[in-house]
Amino acid sequence: MIKIGYGAGHGYHTPGKRTPAGEREWSFNNKVARAFAKEIALYKGVIAKRFDDPTGESDVPLLVRTNGANSWGADYYISFHHNALAGQWGNHTGVETYIYTNPLPQSVELANAIHPAVVNAYGLADRGIKRGNLHIVRETEMPAILIEGGFMDSTIDIVKLKNDQVLANVGKSVAQSLAKFLGLKKAVGSVQDTPVQTPNQPPKIPPTQAPTPTPNKPPMSSSKLVEDGSWGPATTRALQRHYGTTVDGIISGQPRNPSTENIPSARFGSGGSQLIRAMQKDLGTTVDGYISYPSQMIRALQKKLGTTEDGIISRPSQVVKAMQRALNNGTF
Ligand SMILES: [Zn+2]
Repeated sequence: MIKIGYGAGHGYHTPGKRTPAGEREWSFNNKVARAFAKEIALYKGVIAKRFDDPTGESDVPLLVRTNGANSWGADYYISFHHNALAGQWGNHTGVETYIYTNPLPQSVELANAIHPAVVNAYGLADRGIKRGNLHIVRETEMPAILIEGGFMDSTIDIVKLKNDQVLANVGKSVAQSLAKFLGLKKAVGSVQDTPVQTPNQPPKIPPTQAPTPTPNKPPMSSSKLVEDGSWGPATTRALQRHYGTTVDGIISGQPRNPSTENIPSARFGSGGSQLIRAMQKDLGTTVDGYISYPSQMIRALQKKLGTTEDGIISRPSQVVKAMQRALNNGTF
């Protein structure tokens, strides 16, 4: 089950954050967020959780949002905003998507996958993917983007922002491009699976053969990892629980190399990781806390799990996939 954290920026009452005519940014953000949630719910293997106040009454502090997404174990985070230049009407225009100044490689991929769909859905100028030291993309431990969907103080963009159909389509487009990025399929029986029919065509599914709705399956236990070969925060947390080290979803203090760059939960720096030390001890290799390139520890892990022994983590990675399966089956 892939977990998507998302939120509408600010709250309804947040000072500033409104058009020169007084419309609230949150109201625009909320419409996009709701449309996103409605569309992503049609897909299998994914669950979305909102981290702002859906009533808009309170402006949930940013730290509460990011702590919430981190402890829930979100695999991706999307924040919906609308831009402002100076709070005075002007003809500046366009859509931009933010990632952190030192983004996870997967944040870049996520932005590349979603931004063009956002630009298209607004029908506004493309201001590109930008890097910024913004709390929501910095403090989230998972790949994260912040979408600025046009300017609230632009006489051009406000036309789109005040059109609920446009905002609904933006949310839907974000969900669809995210689903494509993640390789998700729509649930069987979902109405939207039925292709749009032209008036002259006989209905593709006669009413008598309409698919029986599948009963709502309970969501998969959140302790089950997605076996996708990507060593993200959820996989790291499962390993940390397994080895009894601090459960934070982060492999800290790693050297930057082609292996660690393929590990979304790795953080670059020095000092090594408690988890990696525990794994090295377990696998009987040198205990230094680092995933080097190639790595003796990864080679030992590959040997243990029966995948190609090259000491390297690619993406997706066969050894990570095997590790996720073993963790899920309790055989690790
Ligand atoms: Zn905002």
